[in-house]
Amino acid sequence: MTRSLSCCVTWVETTDRMHIIRSIEEMQREANSHRAAGAVIGFVPTMGFLHEGHLDLLRLARRRSDVTVCSIFVNPTQFGEGEDLARYPRDFDRDCRLLEAVGCDIVFAPGVEEMYPEGDTTWVQVEGLTNVLEGAFRPTHFRGVTTVVAKLFHAVRPHLAAFGQKDAQQVAVIRRMTRDLRFGVEIAVAPIRREKDGLAMSSRNTYLDKDERKEALALYRSLQTAQRLFSGGERRPEFIQRVVEEEILRSGAMKLDYTAVVHPDSMQPYEGAIDGPALVAVAARIGSTRLIDNTVLGEE
Ligand code: AMP
Repeated sequence: MTRSLSCCVTWVETTDRMHIIRSIEEMQREANSHRAAGAVIGFVPTMGFLHEGHLDLLRLARRRSDVTVCSIFVNPTQFGEGEDLARYPRDFDRDCRLLEAVGCDIVFAPGVEEMYPEGDTTWVQVEGLTNVLEGAFRPTHFRGVTTVVAKLFHAVRPHLAAFGQKDAQQVAVIRRMTRDLRFGVEIAVAPIRREKDGLAMSSRNTYLDKDERKEALALYRSLQTAQRLFSGGERRPEFIQRVVEEEILRSGAMKLDYTAVVHPDSMQPYEGAIDGPALVAVAARIGSTRLIDNTVLGEE
């Protein structure tokens, strides 16, 4: 489906209307020319193996911009030792077909050596926010995320970047980085896209066998329970957290990493009664698959 523009320029390819770019320099050139023409650039960073959750981000970016760029890059630095980097699912051609169908203009798909030139020693790290929840279980994860997103922002030069609420802590970390480093990129957030039965969509769901897939629903059930308690007037964070935890453990098959009720911007635990929006975040493992999910209580 993709073809090379010329026999010697292998990193610039096109589909009928979508442009595929592999080099940072080429991406920057393209971004600069769009900016010079006054176009608003909307950007969606992904690791590929796209699903409707990713495509929602694309649709959101598209509504808000003139040129939409999606990056596909399985970022090695955000995987810890023993995590699933080697088996992370990939299907570039299928991704391109999906992206073209939702009107994406540019796919930025650099290689690892392009993003991490040999001998590089530079990291971007947000402190504080990153050592709790996901950061406590994946100590090098957010350093990898912020480093790659900073590099991607420099390559794509977007006005706006869309991220998913599915990774709520990531949203808080990226917002903080964008603000602290004065990137001048607006961060837009799309709601969690779920399967019909409530399981949050994730590229990693493909690892689940039939039984695990059924058991994984305990995460969604636990978050629904939290919402029900909150609607019924419950405001004690520890009580909600305990019920969420019990609901997940009832499945028997899930191994819990954490459940938490925290402030959505600081990721700090709610002390005292919940009196504003509260993020209920859960992470658990089933077989060899690690899943996360969340819901916000008291959101307008
Ligand atoms: P990933 O490819 O997993 O790195 O995800 C790329 C972007 O898609 C991130 O901003 C994720 O938060 C977002 N995303 C992943 N799954 C979902 C989902 N089910 N609903 C909404 N956004 C999602």
